[in-house]
Amino acid sequence: MFDNLSEKLDKALHVLKGHGQITEINVAETTKEVRRALLDADVNFKIAKEFTNRVKEKALGQNVLSSLQPGQLMVKIVKDELTALMGGDSEGINLSGNPSVILMSGLQGSGKTTFSGKLANFLKKKKSKNPLLVACDVYRPAAIDQLHVVGEQIGVPVYSDRDNNDPVAIAKAGIAKAKAEGHNVVIIDTAGRLAVDEKMMNEISDIHKAINPQETLFVVDSMTGQDAVNTAKAFNDVLNFDGVILTKLDGDTRGGAAISIKSVVNKPIKFIGTGEKMEAIDIFYPSRMADRILG
Ligand code: GDP
Repeated sequence: MFDNLSEKLDKALHVLKGHGQITEINVAETTKEVRRALLDADVNFKIAKEFTNRVKEKALGQNVLSSLQPGQLMVKIVKDELTALMGGDSEGINLSGNPSVILMSGLQGSGKTTFSGKLANFLKKKKSKNPLLVACDVYRPAAIDQLHVVGEQIGVPVYSDRDNNDPVAIAKAGIAKAKAEGHNVVIIDTAGRLAVDEKMMNEISDIHKAINPQETLFVVDSMTGQDAVNTAKAFNDVLNFDGVILTKLDGDTRGGAAISIKSVVNKPIKFIGTGEKMEAIDIFYPSRMADRILG
């Protein structure tokens, strides 16, 4: 994960390792390299610039007080700033409803259906919940089939209605079924399109308004870099979602989405997807991710 970024940051921070003290010159040199590494990882230009300015300021400010070697001090500052940028403390999922309704949003192919299954499995196994999955993609019969396959794999029932082409009605019927059958969590998988368009936004917005979910999650493919951030912004403008799910972090992703998304939409990344299997889900901890990035 983020091998290229880790390597470049390591190189950048290495500059200070041989130095006995932090000076304006060697800090400027280091932060320039850090910025370059972030830009190469597809971090937004403004975020990278502000990030390195904060690092520079802290390095020069803390230098006098710190008992750490310059190299160690710089690693610590970069780690702390990366953690803060990615979101501070981890936040859970709101499960206060009865049932708790979780609405999934995102583009087609982002990993919504897979993640719906992973989350249902996670809540069933780790939180002793009794979830119901609901298939609201009325355009692609294959998407409904896929959710049924996922449900069977994890032993979670799936509600779908192939004769109905109104996703709002399906979502409501799914919630009613959950209530009637004693499911305490309902996960609603919705249709996505290949790019943000008005019809999709209106549809997800209508579902959102009609069911008023406890938790609205935006699922995004981390491999899409800057586009991930732009898509997040478009969905957040319409849904004011509660959290982000970053998928496909097991692939050859550069890291830009993970680093930038929180500060652009000001919503926490809650989970990450790290593979196609139902078990490939992790709670997102910014400090652990920063540790991983810095190796
Ligand atoms: P949807 O259209 O948003 O519902 O996306 P899908 O759930 O169908 O996922 C699209 C593709 O990405 C499928 O082939 C999934 O197996 C794959 N996928 C989903 N999440 C992950 C992940 O975390 N890692 C990897 N490697 N593949 C994933």
